[in-house]
Amino acid sequence: MKKPITWTPTQWSDWKWQQKNRIRTIEQLDEWIDVTPDEREAFRLTNSVFRMGITPYYASLMNQQDPLCPIRLQAVPKMSETKISNTDLADPLGEERYMVVPGLTHRYPDRALFYTNHNCAMYCRFCTRKRKVSNPKSMINKQAYAAIFDYLENHPEISDVIISGGDPLSLSNKRLAVIFDRLSQIKHIKYCRLGSRNLVTLPQRCTDSLSELLKTYQSRHLSIYFNTHFNCLEEATDEAWDACDRIASSGTPMNNQMVLLKGINDSTERVLELNQRLLQMRVKPYYMLQCDLAEGISHFRTSIATGLKIIKGLRGHVSGLASPHYILDAPGGGGKIPLSPNYIIDKEEDHLIFRNYQGEVYRYPESELELDELTPECLQARITALKSGAA
Ligand SMILES: *Cc1c(COP(=O)(O)O)cnc(C)c1O
Ligand code: SF4
Repeated sequence: MKKPITWTPTQWSDWKWQQKNRIRTIEQLDEWIDVTPDEREAFRLTNSVFRMGITPYYASLMNQQDPLCPIRLQAVPKMSETKISNTDLADPLGEERYMVVPGLTHRYPDRALFYTNHNCAMYCRFCTRKRKVSNPKSMINKQAYAAIFDYLENHPEISDVIISGGDPLSLSNKRLAVIFDRLSQIKHIKYCRLGSRNLVTLPQRCTDSLSELLKTYQSRHLSIYFNTHFNCLEEATDEAWDACDRIASSGTPMNNQMVLLKGINDSTERVLELNQRLLQMRVKPYYMLQCDLAEGISHFRTSIATGLKIIKGLRGHVSGLASPHYILDAPGGGGKIPLSPNYIIDKEEDHLIFRNYQGEVYRYPESELELDELTPECLQARITALKSGAA
């Protein structure tokens, strides 16, 4: 049995203690798990590119012997990370391309994405922003913050700000208060989302005082949402549940953005068990994201067919609240593309033909032949045939 560092219950529940005692070296990791030769070598080769950082809390969820444990896969580097495939991209979502001022991506007309810092409680091995996250030198400074707020002020079309990073909860409550304060002063900003994985990797950070802070800034002028990132049931611990309770008590709705990851959550059963638990924790499964093309994460990627099969297995079979949107963030900055199994299967002259979740066929009267935008190509061929009277 391993004997990691010791602590008192008070230390364990103190997020500052958790942060200070993060596992950053292979010697520290040795105290928690039986490190495999693959993991040892992977750490040596990757740590200067994308650091390892694991809170004692998250490490305590790892299986000591099993290198394929879904928690361990997310936190400990593997040699597969050193394989850069020729379709990999340093900036898979084109976030730098749409960066209007340093630290702000304005990709959609009404929304802006704000990178408040580049630190996270735990560095997820599949991170889409590993090009800059975990690198303290790439951190944005005070002047950059001022330029970001200027930009937001001068762009009345922006109503929604995503407060991201890194992880915004790596900032102190004082810094967060400044951000919420500035945002609430900008009339056209109606809502914002705190995008944080701390509910999963450092739930101790979601304290009563953070909850109080959120409550203070919730208003008719600015609604705050909490978007988090649970990937598997093993992360939905009692401590995470308690943290969700504290956030919920501030009146802040919580959404989950899961990333589809091989060996972690790539089956209907895995997604279902997580999403049902999340609903109990008052977190709405919002997105299931197709793994992007960030460098060195190809071992995490599943096929889109797998994702569609998962969605098909959820929709209709379980509470609609447990069915997220399945999203492909188009490589290079194309933005989010929703992916859905096909339920429209054919078109007759005056009816559309559907398949329901049980595979049964239903018809609905529809004589409109201008359906091109809504239908898959095979169906468009059928509609063209109908138009030309060949059917
Ligand atoms: C994902 C994303 C958003 C938010 O998209 P929603 O679909 O509204 O959740 C905004 N800006 C950028 C750059 C994004 O990648
Ligand atoms: S919390 Fe988000 S930004 Fe930070 S390492 Fe994980 S995926 Fe990347």
